[in-house]
Parts: sequence; C-alpha cells; structure tokens
Amino acid sequence: SRAFNFSPGPATLPEPVLRQAQAEMLEWNGVGASIVEVSHRGPEFIEVARQAEADLRTLMSIPDDYAVLFLQGGATAQQALMALNFAAPGQTVDYVVTGHWGKTAIKQARPYVDVNIAADSEAGGFRDIPARDDWRLSKDAAYVHYTANETIHGVEFRDIPQVDNAPLFADFSSSIAAEPLDVSRFGMIYAGAQKNLGPVGVTVVIVRRDLFERAGQPRADIFNYQSHANGDSMLNTPPTWNWYLAGLMFKWMLAEGGVTEFARRNARKAALLYDTIDGSGGFYRNEVAHAARSRMNVPFFLRDAALDAAFLKEAGTAGLISLKGHRVLGGMRASIYNAMPEEGVQALASFMRDFQSRYG
Ligand code: PLP
Repeated sequence: SRAFNFSPGPATLPEPVLRQAQAEMLEWNGVGASIVEVSHRGPEFIEVARQAEADLRTLMSIPDDYAVLFLQGGATAQQALMALNFAAPGQTVDYVVTGHWGKTAIKQARPYVDVNIAADSEAGGFRDIPARDDWRLSKDAAYVHYTANETIHGVEFRDIPQVDNAPLFADFSSSIAAEPLDVSRFGMIYAGAQKNLGPVGVTVVIVRRDLFERAGQPRADIFNYQSHANGDSMLNTPPTWNWYLAGLMFKWMLAEGGVTEFARRNARKAALLYDTIDGSGGFYRNEVAHAARSRMNVPFFLRDAALDAAFLKEAGTAGLISLKGHRVLGGMRASIYNAMPEEGVQALASFMRDFQSRYG
C-alpha cells in the first residue's frame, strides 16, 4: 500500500493521476498504442501538449504575452540558458542567494556573465531572507535572479520582491502553483516538474516574449528559447511521457480548486507542522526565521541527533517515508507539496508527538 511520501523530489504524485496514467498506459483513445508510444508530431500527442499548456495557463493565470515552454535539462540547464539567451557576453547580472539552489544558479551562469551577488544570507546559515533595502542591485543588470523557495534550507519568499532595475527571473522549482502568483511581475519563471508539477524530466519555462528581442550570446539553436517557442517546444523529441503526466497534474489541480485552494491547504499543512515543532519544547527545532519559513519544505532537527535513526525507522514503519534531511543540513525534512494530502501531514504531526512522548 502507498505510504505518505515526504520526498523533496522526485516527489509524491496524487493517486488519481497515477491511476489515470495506469489505465491509459496500454491503449490511448483507440490508437492501438499508448500516448508515449506515438509520434510527438502526430495529432494525438499534439493535442495532449496543447491541452497541457492551456491548462497550465489557466491554472497559473499566465498572460498571453508570456511564452510557456516544456523543455528538458531540468532547472539547472535553465540556469545556464537564461544567461545565454538574455544577457550579453560578460554583462552584469544580479543574484540574490538564500540557499543552496541560488548558489547553483550562479555556478551555471558564471561562464557567460559577470555575476553580482546583490545579497546573500549564507553567513547566517541561510536562515532568513536579506532585507530588500540591503540588496546592492546593479544599474545595468540584464536580470535579477532569486530562488522563490529554497528546497534544502526551507526558506521561502512570501512576497515578490520589488525590483525596478531589470526584469525579475525566479526559480520556482519547488513552489510553482502552490498559491496564486502575479506572473506579470516576472521576466522569467522556471521550474523542474518533479515537485509540484509531475514527474522529473520536463521543465516548465515561462518567459515574457519581449525578452526574445535580446540578442543574448552565440548559442546553438537547441539552446535558443525563441526557437523553442517558435517550434512549440518540439525542436527535437520532447519528453512526451513527462509532458503527458504533467498535463494530468494540471487537470487534477484545476479539478481540486486551483491554486487558491492549494494555497489554503498548503497554509494549513505548514502551520500544523511548524506548530508541532515549535510546541515541542525544543525536542524538535526549525531554525528558519518565521517570516521566511517555507510552506513546501520543512527542515527540522531532533534535539538529540542520536535519535535520528530511530525516528526515521519508526516513521517508515508508520507509513511516513523519505523524511531524511539533505546531506548538506542533516536532520529531517518534510516536503509537503500540493500532492501531499492534509491527512499525510496530520499523520506525521501525530507520529512526531508520539515519538516525543516515548523518547522526550
Ligand atoms: N532549483 C531548486 C529550487 C531545486 O529544488 C532543484 C532541485 O531540487 C533545482 C533547482 C535543480 O533542479 P533540476 O534537478 O531539475 O536541475
């Protein structure tokens, strides 16, 4: 039977989505083959792709002047491609670093651009978001990049930062579609699908079309976002299985009430978990400043790390899996994306209280 899976990604998918995929896997609408066994240029898959994009546009209220791309290479590849596509060679770009993934974004961009670290919370252990007034933005930056939700450190921007010097680019890999978002505030949003949007293998890139007018840097056509937009994300064979499953996720999220409903559920799930941690008298602790705490990834530590192994073992026995923290931080981490039902978080909270009553 299925456990409650708190994996940070690839992450849990909703059971109805998996069941539908299972039912459709042998045969698709009288075609005599599954949707992942037919040409991506045939009418069946073209329709799946078109519908997925339309549903994502509805789900996230994406304005028409934004292109929506379904690409490969994960979020990491986009961190290089954004520099190649939207910054001139050696041009300055501004980065705000609030955790591990902000650092990888810089690493990928550095060969192509001059990175200005406008703000960085590493000295404080990535436990907070640098105050906006303290950001040192450049006058002539090609873009300003930040990580909306730091999956490992559990640090999330609750508001879109106000930036006037350049278009705002954001890594939404672990918080896309978790709540309503004003897409028009951004130049580019990108997200690997494997947390909130489906299975790993497809990456969603949302770009304001006027940015395509930028020359960027010499690059092969396959690394050109405008070419992908012109070619409906089918310059080469796209990840059809992942795209199809992401489409099922979009339909499921819409049927459940859309991002407004997920924002409510996510707020309740996160509150329950943080209350359990904060109310434990120090048996559990989360070190992130309250205003910056992630609603998607909740890292926590046991007062006595010698109990970690017992915690994980007993949690597994109770049907609560993938709670081990990232190796960078240690401890525990509960990832509670859209597909994690509230019952899963309730089960985790009561397990945590029970564990504390026995070991505390
Ligand atoms: N950005 C964030 C916020 C992530 O959580 C991750 C992966 O966990 C990545 C980037 C890297 O994504 P990918 O493995 O799709 O390249």
